[in-house]
Amino acid sequence: MTNVLWLQGGACSGNTMSFLNAEEPTACDLIADFGINILWHPSLGIQLGDNLQDMLWRCALGRITVDILVFEGSVVNAPNGTGEWNRFANRPMKDWLRDLSKSAKYVVAIGDCATWGGIPAMSPNPSESQGLQFLKRDKGGFLGPDYVSKTGYPVINIPGCPAHPDWITQILVAIATGRIKDIALDDLQRPQTFFSTYTQTGCTRNIHFAYKATTAEFGQRKGCLFYDLGCRGPMTHSSCNRILWNRVSSKTRAGMPCLGCTEPEFPFYDLQPGTVFKTQTIMGVPKEIPPGVSHKDYAVLTVVAKDTAPKWADEDFFLV
Ligand code: SF4
Repeated sequence: MTNVLWLQGGACSGNTMSFLNAEEPTACDLIADFGINILWHPSLGIQLGDNLQDMLWRCALGRITVDILVFEGSVVNAPNGTGEWNRFANRPMKDWLRDLSKSAKYVVAIGDCATWGGIPAMSPNPSESQGLQFLKRDKGGFLGPDYVSKTGYPVINIPGCPAHPDWITQILVAIATGRIKDIALDDLQRPQTFFSTYTQTGCTRNIHFAYKATTAEFGQRKGCLFYDLGCRGPMTHSSCNRILWNRVSSKTRAGMPCLGCTEPEFPFYDLQPGTVFKTQTIMGVPKEIPPGVSHKDYAVLTVVAKDTAPKWADEDFFLV
């Protein structure tokens, strides 16, 4: 039996919705096949009433084993560092988090708000939000840079806005079955198995990207979204086009640019007008280009690509 305690900070519940959509394995499979016991989850109807506080105290004091503490949402420190009062838990959530993180065997941050601070931590950050161990790309999160759980692990970060459903359930299963030791974390503490490749890996528009065949309209099946609509697929670490959402699609497959939501800088440019869904350029060359490519080489490459593009590079391959 693996006890999972799922708590929420400053959150929209998007990661809970994502979790409930998981398919391999499903949330029900976790319970039926992998011995996961959900001690508490704010949306799953395990209503403990006043007993919630009692249970949380028993978890914090080690009388109930917390194998996995899952946190969704940012750590809210406002007002003035005191933390937001949680009416269910009868205490600011950050106080529970500090106590429970000491007794948990593993701590898993789900979604951008819990990993990096996310949208709540956007300037001027009135909620004084932080991620669990990071604030943006720096280790300036609530639990501190040196935090490790009882098993010696730092916070395991599963970012995304929301995180992909199967990333969540597969990491919970990996912990429950002891296979987490085979999964390396990257320098941002993300499981490499999901975050070593780019969103562009597996995108159906790669051939359009290669020949600089663009689209400036959402929802089109042809054309790459990088040149006009600000797609961040070439610069974003995620497996969204390898492990499809609902096993069917992804943003870029549906004609929606990748917004880079698994990276700590999300939301990029603090969502300033004119920065979303629009490629930022300097003298016609995108400001941000695939990592490892120089701007000079990129400019040459795209001129050649455009000049040599065959007619079919502008066609809709899926029209039959
Ligand atoms: S749509 Fe985005 S992810 Fe797909 S090929 Fe173009 S830039 Fe890459």
